[in-house]
Amino acid sequence: MSDTSLPRGLPLTSSRVEQIFPKLTPAQIRRIAANGHMRAIQRGEVLYDQGDSAVPFFVVVSGELEIVRPSSTFETIVTVCGPGQFTGEVNTLFGRRALFRARATKPGELIELDCQRMLALVQTDAELGEILMRAFILRRAELVAASVGDVVLVGSMHSAGTLRIKEFLMRNGHPYSYMDLERNPEVQNLLDSFHIAPSEIPVVICRGQVVLRNPTNHQVADCLGFNETIDQTHMRDLVIIGAGPSGLAAAVYGASEGLDVLVLETSFPGGQAGSSSRIENYLGFPTGISGQELAARAYNQAQKFGAQVLIAKGTRIACDRKPYTVEVENGARIPARTVVIATGAEYRRPPIESMSRFEGAGVYYGATYVEAQLCGGEEVIVVGGGNSAGQAAVFLAEVAKRVHMLIRSAGLVESMSRYLIRRIEETPRIVLHTHTECMALEGSGGHLESVRWQNNQTGQIEEHNIRHVFVMTGATPNSRWLGGCVTLDAKGFIKTGPDLSPEDLSAARWPLARSPYLLETSLPGVFAIGDVRSGNIKRVASAVGEGSIAISFVHQVLKE
Ligand SMILES: Cc1cc2nc3c(=O)[nH]c(=O)nc-3n(C[C@H](O)[C@H](O)[C@H](O)COP(=O)(O)OP(=O)(O)OC[C@H]3O[C@@H](n4cnc5c(N)ncnc54)[C@H](O)[C@@H]3O)c2cc1C
Repeated sequence: MSDTSLPRGLPLTSSRVEQIFPKLTPAQIRRIAANGHMRAIQRGEVLYDQGDSAVPFFVVVSGELEIVRPSSTFETIVTVCGPGQFTGEVNTLFGRRALFRARATKPGELIELDCQRMLALVQTDAELGEILMRAFILRRAELVAASVGDVVLVGSMHSAGTLRIKEFLMRNGHPYSYMDLERNPEVQNLLDSFHIAPSEIPVVICRGQVVLRNPTNHQVADCLGFNETIDQTHMRDLVIIGAGPSGLAAAVYGASEGLDVLVLETSFPGGQAGSSSRIENYLGFPTGISGQELAARAYNQAQKFGAQVLIAKGTRIACDRKPYTVEVENGARIPARTVVIATGAEYRRPPIESMSRFEGAGVYYGATYVEAQLCGGEEVIVVGGGNSAGQAAVFLAEVAKRVHMLIRSAGLVESMSRYLIRRIEETPRIVLHTHTECMALEGSGGHLESVRWQNNQTGQIEEHNIRHVFVMTGATPNSRWLGGCVTLDAKGFIKTGPDLSPEDLSAARWPLARSPYLLETSLPGVFAIGDVRSGNIKRVASAVGEGSIAISFVHQVLKE
């Protein structure tokens, strides 16, 4: 017997049907109607098609709409909207291209709002804002889970390009279908119909029309229209470079406080935190939250307040005159009254292919109480010979059965503080392996299970059943692209506020009578936050805190 309370369309993975497809009350419908206009519909009328930009938002007053995914052979019904229900998902809110076609299946009447009015409604009406935002985000999550969208990726599990595009689409929260060259018998027919040779994979087919052969992330973003509604010419109050936790926090605070904010992000929102399987020490999430979920929430929150996010790399700041201009890889030059640099850092990873597979599941870049709890009574490995590695080894020795420290060089004297070397020598549970490099990591079920290391002098290889590796080989700040515009410390991190000495300021020709504000660089009105900043604390919470603090100083600069 079929369940008539379930909506027609794709099967849902979540039980939250009332939140995904809520029915608005008459009072809520009246409030929406006050912001839009009424429109009659006829059976068969197409309200918008897949690929249309800036499509309106519709509330069904009477009649019925169906949302379908078109294809050259058949249509898939995604869902059906009856009286009191509404169209849209995340793309509708941000004016991006429609993923599907909307068509009337019964005559009736709709309320129509253009996307600016709908965004304004979400921002100003708390009750409706919550209902609409939640429905849009949950609908998107359903589409991602069901792999139903406007793009098909054809690739191979053995191709690095395929993995790159999968990660790009997944971490941008864009639903896609995947067809594997080796596993899917229909792939050859599909490739033939588009005259694509198997050697040209990975191939991305957008809306069944545009075919991209081994595209860059930027080309995929353009094809899906990620950036096309964003004006890249007008002067912004604030341009933020980097959409990790610090940049997204600055965007949320800046946009919610009325600033015209543009964020540039090379690849996908979330930064390093986005690759963490579970963040357990971020305030307000007692059972932890995955980095990707935190990033997706922050991304939607920033856009809800009106911040725009351009998926493109910042390549230079033209800093010789004000207003500053931020140059983008696509050639755009965006004028900005103030700039926040939030480009983070990249942990140096030993060149081991499987390392990224076990990140957060046996491979860690920090040794805090959370990680220590995971390895109580077990053997662990610390890779690296600097102070952070020494601190980690001493700390982990309190709980672990044995700590193997692997260092490439002959000893610690050159790279570690004397007091730490002594502590290591005095801790029998720490075993130092000099001239030793980690070679391979293996595991099943997603978790690391064994590690091979090699003595780089004798060539001898050892394999151990060890489930936890702490990579403490330092982080490289993403600051090289700044080309000398702001003062850096000896390791390339950006100096800010009180860390800038009088000598630094005079070398940088600081032009103002006041000193730099907290988080302000040697260039007035340009701030640096999060992991790219000299002296930062590498934590999600501190990155978010700096993002919010920077905005209060941005306001001060804008008043100057
Ligand atoms: C695997 C892992 C797990 C972690 N787990 C935790 C944890 O549990 N708890 C915790 O508190 N901390 C954790 N951390 C640390 C935390 O993630 C970082 O401190 C935090 O992400 C720093 O935020 P950020 O915004 O400063 O920089 P990042 O997160 O590094 O983000 C920088 C962003 O800028 C973008 N970018 C770089 N250059 C450019 C450019 N030129 N143009 C445009 N965009 C650019 C990058 O693509 C990136 O998205 C973890 C880190 C890792 C790697």
